[in-house]
Amino acid sequence: MTFDTFIVVDWAAGKASGPTPKKDAIWIGVASDINVGPPLYMRSRLEAEAWLTSRLSAERAQGHRVLASFDFPFAYPKGFAQSLIGSDDPFGVWDWLAARITDDAKGDNNRFDVAAEINRAFGGDGPFWGNPLKRDIAGLERNKSVYSLHDLPEKRGCEQAEQGLFTCWQLAGAGAVGAQALMGLPVLHRLHKRFANELSVWPFETADAPIVLAEIWPSLLGSVVKEAEKKGEIRDAAQVRLLSKALAGLEASKLAEMMDVSSPIEGAILGAGYSSDLQRLATKLEPPKLANDCFALPAGIDWTPVDDALEMLRARLKPVVQSTTKSLERAVGMVLSSDVSALRSNPPLPNTAVDGFGFASASVLGDGPFELPLVDGRAAAGLRFDGHVPSGWAIRILTGAALPDGVDTVVLQEDVRSDGTRIAFNGPIKTGSNTRRAGEDVRVEETILRAGRKVTPADAALLSAVGVAEVHTYTPLRVGVLSTGDELVETGQTARDGQIYDANRPMLLAQLREWGFEAIDLGRAPDKRATLKGMLDAGAAKCDAILTSGGASAGDEDHMSALLAETGSLALWRIALKPGRPLALGVWDGVPIFGLPGNPVAALVCTLIFARPALNLLSGSRWSTPNGFMVPAAFEKNKKSGRREFLRARLRDGQVEVFKSEGSGRVSGLSWAEGLVELPDGAMDIAHGTPVRFIPYDLF
Ligand code: AMP
Ligand code: MG
Repeated sequence: MTFDTFIVVDWAAGKASGPTPKKDAIWIGVASDINVGPPLYMRSRLEAEAWLTSRLSAERAQGHRVLASFDFPFAYPKGFAQSLIGSDDPFGVWDWLAARITDDAKGDNNRFDVAAEINRAFGGDGPFWGNPLKRDIAGLERNKSVYSLHDLPEKRGCEQAEQGLFTCWQLAGAGAVGAQALMGLPVLHRLHKRFANELSVWPFETADAPIVLAEIWPSLLGSVVKEAEKKGEIRDAAQVRLLSKALAGLEASKLAEMMDVSSPIEGAILGAGYSSDLQRLATKLEPPKLANDCFALPAGIDWTPVDDALEMLRARLKPVVQSTTKSLERAVGMVLSSDVSALRSNPPLPNTAVDGFGFASASVLGDGPFELPLVDGRAAAGLRFDGHVPSGWAIRILTGAALPDGVDTVVLQEDVRSDGTRIAFNGPIKTGSNTRRAGEDVRVEETILRAGRKVTPADAALLSAVGVAEVHTYTPLRVGVLSTGDELVETGQTARDGQIYDANRPMLLAQLREWGFEAIDLGRAPDKRATLKGMLDAGAAKCDAILTSGGASAGDEDHMSALLAETGSLALWRIALKPGRPLALGVWDGVPIFGLPGNPVAALVCTLIFARPALNLLSGSRWSTPNGFMVPAAFEKNKKSGRREFLRARLRDGQVEVFKSEGSGRVSGLSWAEGLVELPDGAMDIAHGTPVRFIPYDLF
């Protein structure tokens, strides 16, 4: 039971409210396992319905599965539907209400009149009660004292177990939910119709559609909400925020367990009986952020060799992501957060690797030739042969079939002559020929994959084969990309004299996506400190790491390094590297910032060499060293000692050639190249044919 997005709606029955967020209005919480959004305030039901429709469509367009839950009953106590529409179908009641309830942008609606209409149909006084309006309504009592239930239960079965739930018959008074249901069910009816096969309603339908609607009860969070209220948060806002966070944090198997209910015609409350799980997840702590001084350099360092810089990153960074549970299908491309062991051996039983005939090896001692009678029946994959094959007999057997009792050896059908009742073949035959032992590939409980591994399609095959349907993975690392510089304009817009197009942002965003991170576009910042600061604040709130480019040196317009210096976390790493200027490393609100040089060539090289392994560690994956290989040079160069150099290069005819210019402003060379040649820190005289190390872009 895996969902990408969890929406929690706190519905309201009253009049529309103004622009200032207030309580008892509609609030919506949205969370995924990596992100809990700020609660959204809706001024009217019409606005909320429009928002839900467009958000659900947008989620579907992205291929997401959504669980949307609402805080009012999806059905009435047993017997009500039967009396109202002549059937137990809860959707019949939705339909009935949708045809009668009216609502408008101001929130003016006819809910009390419709309730009275139902009461009159039931013969007068009840089951609904509670009229807070000035005018009297025939058939709707003002309070409970004189109403009748007409043999209907006061509450649904699922409500009886929980303390403090209101009866849906009560339409007015603090805490009453009856009016919300009257005003909410028509909206659900329209969503159900609109999304048709893409949407199912739990628990009336199986919860396997891409969008699932469910009923929820915010009071399951208990005192957790009070804590948030004490800090000044509006109660309804806190409820939807915390509930969406809790639902998003649930293990898929736990959610499936919660959704496993029987006899659903009265509906059910998602999470009932799981209050403590929800409270624990709603208050789950985030892992500690990185310390401010995590990039500090040892004193007295002037130029840092590349290997020392890498070693420092490796020693100081750790995963900043959270653990979650993913179905096998969704786990591909994610990083495992714990080791995985086999739930079953592969193969589970001894079986045959070929089509042929099976028998006991004791039946064919010596060199042969042999002749064996065939037993009736055959063994095929998935179709176990139940009987015993006596010694001296053989059985027809097909690839993948479990070896029948009495069989330990198989002869290939091409090596056999048969008349349908007997087979003849030559020896000698080795015991166990053409068979696979149980567990010869993987034994049950054996560790098959280690934490830190990024799950590949081939891993999906292995996991499936050994019965693992769900694994623990880290949430994807969210990496923000921000360009800085007054001279930058967006590609596609007109560039005035002195302006250049932003080349780094599209390059870095694409590279991060290719590496499987969640790349977040943070836009372009001008060379203005206050604006840049605001953009960093916004970025740090939604990213686990940020790559910036430009403004990273120590000049007047180098605002990136200046701002990081203000936090006390700036470390200007002057790395003995070409191309590259200082790498400005720092921590903003606990989020690591990699301040890359503005120059696209230097920006990419620094990203490949430093950001790549660093981001791997932050994402829970292992430190990575690119697998370069030695190739004869198709160029000449006299390299000086004292710094490492990376040249834009590509392989042609078994040799590596380099771009005609080493100028670090030459973006065309980045694109011309298919990787980098890495020249060591020391001096090197390179002639045609000298082996040099080449690292294709793909291997970083
Ligand atoms: P800076 O590091 O800000 O001094 O920038 C170094 C050089 O890189 C300058 O020539 C900038 O114009 C250029 N530059 C900075 N950011 C970008 C970018 N996003 N795309 C292309 N060039 C850039
Ligand atoms: Mg600049």
